[in-house]
Amino acid sequence: MYDLICVGGGLAGLTASIILAKEGFKVAIIEKNDYPQHKVCGEYISNEILPFWQKLGFDPFEHGAVALTQFQLSAPSGNLLKMPLPLGGFGISRYTLDLELMQYAQKQGVEVFTNQTVREITTQENNTKAVFTDEKMPFLGKIVLGAFGKRSNLDAQMKRDFFQKKSPYIGVKYHLKFDQKLQEDNVIALHNFQNGYCGISRVENDVFCMCYLTTRNNLQKFGNIPEMEKNILWKNVYLKEIFEKGNFIWEKPKVINEVSFATKSTQAQGVLMAGDSAGMIAPLCGNGMAMAVHSAKLISTEIIKRLKNEISETEMFENYTKIWNKNFKFRLQWGRFLQSFFGNNFLSELLIWSGKNSKILRNFLVSHTHGKNVEF
Ligand SMILES: Cc1cc2nc3c(=O)[nH]c(=O)nc-3n(C[C@H](O)[C@H](O)[C@H](O)COP(=O)(O)OP(=O)(O)OC[C@H]3O[C@@H](n4cnc5c(N)ncnc54)[C@H](O)[C@@H]3O)c2cc1C
Repeated sequence: MYDLICVGGGLAGLTASIILAKEGFKVAIIEKNDYPQHKVCGEYISNEILPFWQKLGFDPFEHGAVALTQFQLSAPSGNLLKMPLPLGGFGISRYTLDLELMQYAQKQGVEVFTNQTVREITTQENNTKAVFTDEKMPFLGKIVLGAFGKRSNLDAQMKRDFFQKKSPYIGVKYHLKFDQKLQEDNVIALHNFQNGYCGISRVENDVFCMCYLTTRNNLQKFGNIPEMEKNILWKNVYLKEIFEKGNFIWEKPKVINEVSFATKSTQAQGVLMAGDSAGMIAPLCGNGMAMAVHSAKLISTEIIKRLKNEISETEMFENYTKIWNKNFKFRLQWGRFLQSFFGNNFLSELLIWSGKNSKILRNFLVSHTHGKNVEF
């Protein structure tokens, strides 16, 4: 019997499990894949969570993270806005980050079960949760945390509303190196193109991560990814140069579809949700990972109170929903609104022009999508 079972061993699940294990609770993570794995993600992490992770004993800079302090935004025409990032962030691949965080979790006593897909979660008569994988016996736990990311078989199994609606977005990611300097090491650049945007920034080992979000329609129009890139992304001069001069490390990019930014719930069928399982912010805001970690911290506080019998189960659910909404609801709405400016030539030009001419607007945009430092 575990105190907590985290379903999904991404940043939300790993962070929550470390917090609970450090408090002396018995924690299991069940992850459907193995570590390390490449994930479709821009790999820029906002500094919001850096002091928190460091206090927890995990420092990404010990594993090759690179500081990112400058932001550049381009329109397809080549119009470029440059600005410092007030809080800044760092770059590290998910391949390295998730592996190192998982190993750190194990050191704290977390039991990590990989290559096991959770199929169903049920509540037994005594309120114990049973977590079923393909193994004969279920895992049993007092509390289950859903940290299974943006889209999972469990969303379908739980009949969550957002899962019924189709999403038009796809994500594509590459790792590449450059022989000549096309971008400074401390820059996170966001390049717009018709119906999408592409982030590029450095991660460990002199590698750059390039990751873009676009629509399925764009892809269908040109039949395959290389043709779509040549006909659409290359119209942005910065992207054209990167595609032409970059040394691409993988033969093919990593691709995901059905990326949904729809509103989700913070709980379903007696399972608390953290990270993307509770709601995903538009990637252009660059802080989905920070939000995943922050939500894990918020949920852990309530779970600990519940495990110590300081609050009832109902209070745990209510408190978390309240605090999640307070911290993230508005940011997600802003992310969705801002995203409507991207991928549209006229609106992205307008945004860059306004940003170039107004410091107030620049600060407003950053402060309304980013949070403050997460407190320990
Ligand atoms: C195109 C794109 C670019 C992005 N760029 C950035 C960026 O630059 N910066 C940023 O901060 N954020 C970015 N994000 C968002 C970021 O990737 C997510 O917000 C973050 O990964 C959420 O972490 P998580 O722990 O909630 O989910 P994940 O990291 O997705 O982890 C969920 C885990 O659950 C596992 N799982 C799923 N179902 C099951 C199951 N049934 N049983 C067991 N395990 C299961 C999965 O294998 C996975 O490991 C981007 C997203 C996209 C789509």
